[in-house]
Amino acid sequence: MKKKLLITGLCVLSLMSYAGTVSAIGLGGIAKTAKKGAEVAQKLNITVEDEKAYGNAMHPYLVSDFGGEHRNKAVQKYVSAIGHNLVPKDSKFDFTFTVINTDMVNAFAMPGGYVYITRGILKSMKNEAQLAAVLGHEIQHVIGRHGKEQLQKAVLAEEGVNLAGSAAGKAGGAIGKDLAKKLAGVFKDLAMAGYGRSQESESDLRGTDYSYQAGYNPNGGVEFFEILFQMQGGVDRGGAYATHPKTKDRINKLSKYIKKKKYSGGKTNEQAFLTMQKKV
Ligand SMILES: [Zn+2]
Repeated sequence: MKKKLLITGLCVLSLMSYAGTVSAIGLGGIAKTAKKGAEVAQKLNITVEDEKAYGNAMHPYLVSDFGGEHRNKAVQKYVSAIGHNLVPKDSKFDFTFTVINTDMVNAFAMPGGYVYITRGILKSMKNEAQLAAVLGHEIQHVIGRHGKEQLQKAVLAEEGVNLAGSAAGKAGGAIGKDLAKKLAGVFKDLAMAGYGRSQESESDLRGTDYSYQAGYNPNGGVEFFEILFQMQGGVDRGGAYATHPKTKDRINKLSKYIKKKKYSGGKTNEQAFLTMQKKV
């Protein structure tokens, strides 16, 4: 039972068992509210600057919701340095990488440049190339603005349809603590459900591009998905959400992509990674 709870949903990992029933109920409510405001959502234009403002306001609440930051500064520094090294130079976003203090095997991204990776996922990896692939995947969720629509829905769900006309303006200014806290809770649930199939696939491929361009062995992503597949007991359920791609499908697609791009060689920095991992 405990193990099931630890391996819960994330955008990298197929949802093996979505134990968060309260969260699931929350999602239903959000979907309903968002559906009502669907037309308005179209008009609720979330800009890059809005994403940064909302991300910045939600960040501390998200971190505390997940059990706080991992206390080891060396671990935070290590992950942050690798993450920053992967971000393309022309990115519109400044990134913040945070290791969170939970055994849950998870990694996810929030709009505006916030990437989170758990203690549990770090413990499950074997080298730096695997970490780079996962961070690259999350970076693409931010750069591809995959959370934009979810943010629109979350804002509508929390603020109501009436606000829609002025929400974008509000995002540019100060976001109240109460709103930020509520949005963080809502967005946490939405993030846990993962993004759509095409966005996950795009992030898998681009994440591998980013890590390869930074000098890493291109097979980090494939290797890590294999580890996840083993953790899932070798049974590919594809997750509780129909939109979530199956792990084996992702492995196959990513392997083909690496072959097609003729990616080879590259570093794994296994020793440096294992030294860091002891502190996790
Ligand atoms: Zn993802």
